[in-house]
Amino acid sequence: MLFVDLNLSEPILRAVAAEGYETATPIQAQTIPHTLDGRDVLGCAQTGTGKTAAFALPILHRLAASPKTKAPRCLVLAPTRELAGQIADSFATYGRFMNLRMAVIFGGVNQNPQVNALQRGVDILIATPGRLMDLMNQGHVDLRRIEVFVLDEADRMLDMGFLPDIKRITSHLPDRRQTMLFSATMPNEIRRFADALLNDPAEVHVAPKKMTADRIEQKLYHVERRQKPALLAHLLSNLSIERAIVFTRTKHGADRVARDLRRIGASVEAIHGDKSQNARRRALDGFRSNKIAVLVATDIASRGIDVDGISHVFNYDLARDPESHVHRIGRTARAGASGMAVSFCDPEEKPLLRAIQRLTRTDLPVADDMPTLDKKVRQNVAHPLQRAADAHATEENTPTNRPRRRKPHRKGNSRSKANANTNTSGEANSDKPSKNGKRRNGYPLAGKPKGKRSRQRRRRRAN
Ligand code: AMP
Repeated sequence: MLFVDLNLSEPILRAVAAEGYETATPIQAQTIPHTLDGRDVLGCAQTGTGKTAAFALPILHRLAASPKTKAPRCLVLAPTRELAGQIADSFATYGRFMNLRMAVIFGGVNQNPQVNALQRGVDILIATPGRLMDLMNQGHVDLRRIEVFVLDEADRMLDMGFLPDIKRITSHLPDRRQTMLFSATMPNEIRRFADALLNDPAEVHVAPKKMTADRIEQKLYHVERRQKPALLAHLLSNLSIERAIVFTRTKHGADRVARDLRRIGASVEAIHGDKSQNARRRALDGFRSNKIAVLVATDIASRGIDVDGISHVFNYDLARDPESHVHRIGRTARAGASGMAVSFCDPEEKPLLRAIQRLTRTDLPVADDMPTLDKKVRQNVAHPLQRAADAHATEENTPTNRPRRRKPHRKGNSRSKANANTNTSGEANSDKPSKNGKRRNGYPLAGKPKGKRSRQRRRRRAN
């Protein structure tokens, strides 16, 4: 279905066209007509299906047509600050030709700018439950004007223990409202929760329940735990990777993997709950702008990663619950692209593997190209995924920035000898004299460039 057939207002169609979208994705084509009719929606859709626009576009359409108030008229709840930020970015993109005010509220940062935004007046409020509750308790948020309420990634909200907060927040919402609940999986708990929250909802399923996208090629390596670093290093060097996410189970594990990869020269950052909001945003920005090739993430931190062009997902540790596996691999093959998900399974993780295979009703194909692995990950300075460092080096070597280097003096010794102790870029490995009496900086002792005094000395000798 084309966007122009969806009865959305002109500024929205213009913004969508500016993004290069012509055809609505299945979740959009199914959801938008119901939402424009004012119905509640229960959406079962994986991330990457275009579900943000599925709720954002009709919300923008509706709010533009109803009178403004100082208090927010739309509330979107998201489980993580990254996802909240990305939903806000989407609203800003799709609403760029409209005059609607937006605020995003999440924890881990100073609350004052958020409070100020609320006091100035907001149409669309996007929030994580914890900080929203805080600000509500302090009397900064008035939810009595809410017309549309969206609960995104409801399954993850429940996993993260947000249910009590969400119940308290919804008890402050007006009864007359439109509600949309989106969830990647629909276990009974979510269904019961949805029954209590939604009023005769239109149900929208864009993919069969509990499945993985067909466009994702999966590969499984049975590997000892201690060999995982070497296997990861090998695959990152040998697969043609555009951008990759590596999932670990723990924050500590994420840091360790990032450190190992940095050591072999890959441009990499880790994101997890212990990182500051700024560090997480910087890492995501670097990843999005292609300065960072590999992001190492824990499950919770990865929730809001909405980056197209992720060619590979590595499950360095298998996910603790099988739904998370589906989420993880859904980070690749977004918006019609294809991708590869590589899972490492050590002997202790076999029960997790069985749970994943049961849920997805597929056997992960075992890789037939298991390499022979070195015990130690070898240093590889020119790693194929060394991006930030390369970009930095290029920047530093622009003609104006390049440090001046004296040309090696060719007199006396042959060039090949002079080069014997230099590395491939022609720079010295060390300044110490080598055993054969040549300096390792590329200048044989006898052929070192002469200064003014030595020229004078030679002239005197010649006279
Ligand atoms: P989401 O599932 O909302 O996280 O969206 C996944 C990605 O699909 C985002 O990067 C969007 O920019 C992109 N997207 C959403 N709708 C469309 C569309 N109709 N056509 C092409 N790309 C889209």
